[in-house]
Amino acid sequence: AHLDRIAEVEPDVHAFLHVAGPAALTRAEEIDRLRAEGRAPSALAGVPVAIKDVLCTLDMPSTAGSKILEGWVPPYDATPVARLRAAGLVPLGKTNMDEFAMGSSTEYSAYGATHNPWDLSRIPGGSGGGSAAAVAAFEAPVALGSDTGGSIRQPAAVTGTVGVKPTYGGVSRYGSIALASSLDQVGPVSRTVLDAALIHDVIGGHDPHDATSLTDEWPSMAAAARRGKAEGSLAGVRVGVVHQLDGSGFQGGVRQRFGEALKRMAEAGAEIVEVQAPHFEYAISAYYLILPAEASSNLAKYDSVRFGLRVDPGRSTTEQVMALSREAGFGPEVKRRVILGTYALSAGYYDAYYGSAQQVRTLVQRDFTAAFEQADVLVSPSAPTTAFPLGEKVDDPLAMYLNDVTTIPANLAGIPGMSLPIGLAPEDGLPVGLQLMAPAREDARLYRVGATVE
Ligand code: GLN
Repeated sequence: AHLDRIAEVEPDVHAFLHVAGPAALTRAEEIDRLRAEGRAPSALAGVPVAIKDVLCTLDMPSTAGSKILEGWVPPYDATPVARLRAAGLVPLGKTNMDEFAMGSSTEYSAYGATHNPWDLSRIPGGSGGGSAAAVAAFEAPVALGSDTGGSIRQPAAVTGTVGVKPTYGGVSRYGSIALASSLDQVGPVSRTVLDAALIHDVIGGHDPHDATSLTDEWPSMAAAARRGKAEGSLAGVRVGVVHQLDGSGFQGGVRQRFGEALKRMAEAGAEIVEVQAPHFEYAISAYYLILPAEASSNLAKYDSVRFGLRVDPGRSTTEQVMALSREAGFGPEVKRRVILGTYALSAGYYDAYYGSAQQVRTLVQRDFTAAFEQADVLVSPSAPTTAFPLGEKVDDPLAMYLNDVTTIPANLAGIPGMSLPIGLAPEDGLPVGLQLMAPAREDARLYRVGATVE
């Protein structure tokens, strides 16, 4: 049914870069047989799942939305993909994304933009717009994304889906094509909080292949979501509204739905408190130094020797071949960030840029520590606006970056964040998302509270 739906809506939505097709059907039939024999690998066996193209897959190309990796089929599965397969979930295909996950609209994909199923003239968010659009358009029930500065939560917000960025280290990054290694986290996209929790339980937990993977024993996220649904109460939960992200300057309908969500939480028994996070003002600036610095280093490996595209006109030096290949293989946003990153890391500038950005990062972390003394969860709108028109910000990097104001702080601090739908903005009829944030390792709290609010 999902493959049929993909065939029907893909010409309009373009959520996928690759559709597994017959391979997915064969696997689904195999799972059916196993189930008939009482040997289904898990309760989720047979559930189709869409995979963001940033994740390595053995049997499907993995391009990260870039021409430089066009047609590249990795020799291994990313750990989250391997775990989904082991549980019997069936990968449907690879979803579109901004090149190397740099962007907030999927317009920086080298393979054309994804369209928001709610309004095809609008962006589906980014960088994981393909995963969010696939779930919103009923092409897939669940999907995987990656979130470095909001790439799961912002697309979820603008497509009316649920998206979760787990605690840094909670889900393995092994096989996730790196953007900024200290910020990247893989997580679920779904239509309900419980669905996200079920996927989180499968993909999460320690992985010796990822040196930053936490060794914690995690509670069941699904159990937390079910408890939240069953209890339907927020009695005793302190909900902190971050003053710096309280919606001032945001779109009217976003503010309205956010205010209503707060009211519903208060009615469910939550104590609403205002908290201050004075350094969030500098979070975007710090992020857009740390991210390009780490990205420029991570992207150095695309040298035309080991991966993908190679432009070699003959009679050229190695350096010329590398330069020509990177020139042809990378899009403008990737080049912009590589230049910014290498500049920020150059001798003589390191302390002024990268060094001070890291200090700001510590201050943002301290803001969160103080805020979580007053509140159990923090809330904000997930994005300042609903889905904006395709083309509106594509030539204005700064406008694109400012869109990330709400989501970036959680990545800088490594804490978990969730976006869940809270209705449509009256002025344009487009989805609005509520962001919930919890202290590091308290992902289960997000699912409990999220399931109550949903
Ligand atoms: N929009 C952010 C950026 O462009 C988020 C990216 C991400 O989370 N991968 O960097």
